[in-house]
Amino acid sequence: MPLTISEIRNNCLKARERMATARNEHWAFGAFNLDDEPTLIAVAKAAHKKNSPVLVEVSHGEVQDIGLNNIRDLVDNVKAEYGIEMYINLDHSPSVEAAKAGIMAGFEFIHIDISQADHNASDEQIIKSTKEVVEYAKFTGALVESEPHYFGGSSNLHTETIDYDEIKKTFSTPEGAKAFVEATGIDTFAAAIGNLHGKYPVPKVLDLNLLRRIREAIDCNISLHGGSGTPGHYFKDAVEIGVSKININSDMRIAYRTSLENALKENPEEYSVAKLINAHVIDAVQEVVESKIADFNSAGRAQP
Ligand SMILES: [Zn+2]
Repeated sequence: MPLTISEIRNNCLKARERMATARNEHWAFGAFNLDDEPTLIAVAKAAHKKNSPVLVEVSHGEVQDIGLNNIRDLVDNVKAEYGIEMYINLDHSPSVEAAKAGIMAGFEFIHIDISQADHNASDEQIIKSTKEVVEYAKFTGALVESEPHYFGGSSNLHTETIDYDEIKKTFSTPEGAKAFVEATGIDTFAAAIGNLHGKYPVPKVLDLNLLRRIREAIDCNISLHGGSGTPGHYFKDAVEIGVSKININSDMRIAYRTSLENALKENPEEYSVAKLINAHVIDAVQEVVESKIADFNSAGRAQP
């Protein structure tokens, strides 16, 4: 059933307060990518077992596949069934229109990423569009997240190594972060400190000193994208410094595919792939989510 505007506003207000609590208490919301219903169940089971608050998130492709209202309904049903604290993040929304649609569907978190659709978007364009979403979001109170320029990688298993000299050119700076937050009024700044979308042959290295300087320079929430393939100790330090939202996608996708391939191999006579997914894949993805919840220090903190 669609949420009423007052239910949406209550959800958004709570999400806003809980992000502030996360920052004060030094834990972070895991934002786990929702590829399909079994993935959602895996996140819900992990959240229930660990008594952890969580976000699930969808990118533009998943919105097109599943539909904004279906996603809202699926999440609301699962939330009620498992008795968990769960919010929805619209991840990498490529346009003002797509972000507005997410706000009106009652998503509590909106990430507007103008440079995703156009890597050459000018600073002025990015600031103008981001501000427009910030203004529009005041209708429901949704939290708006953004970053000043294109953030690299893709949520997949990569075989190339990471060229840190290239990546460093795209790092956030404390001055740039401050100017962007002041110009746009966003609620959450997506920091680039060595995090990168996707999983690579070598573990990621995060520049925690840079993160500390960004934390001192701005007063809003800080998120980290591209959390997959990052050694857990970096997350523990990052939440201690004041990161309160960390996006995870590739690690879950890799567990999904690997466990599905094994199940298919071991059950050549089974033609209900859905049955195999239920029996094998959900557990594997749940395990990934649980390990991230431990890294993010969010276990035991749910307030459903
Ligand atoms: Zn991302």
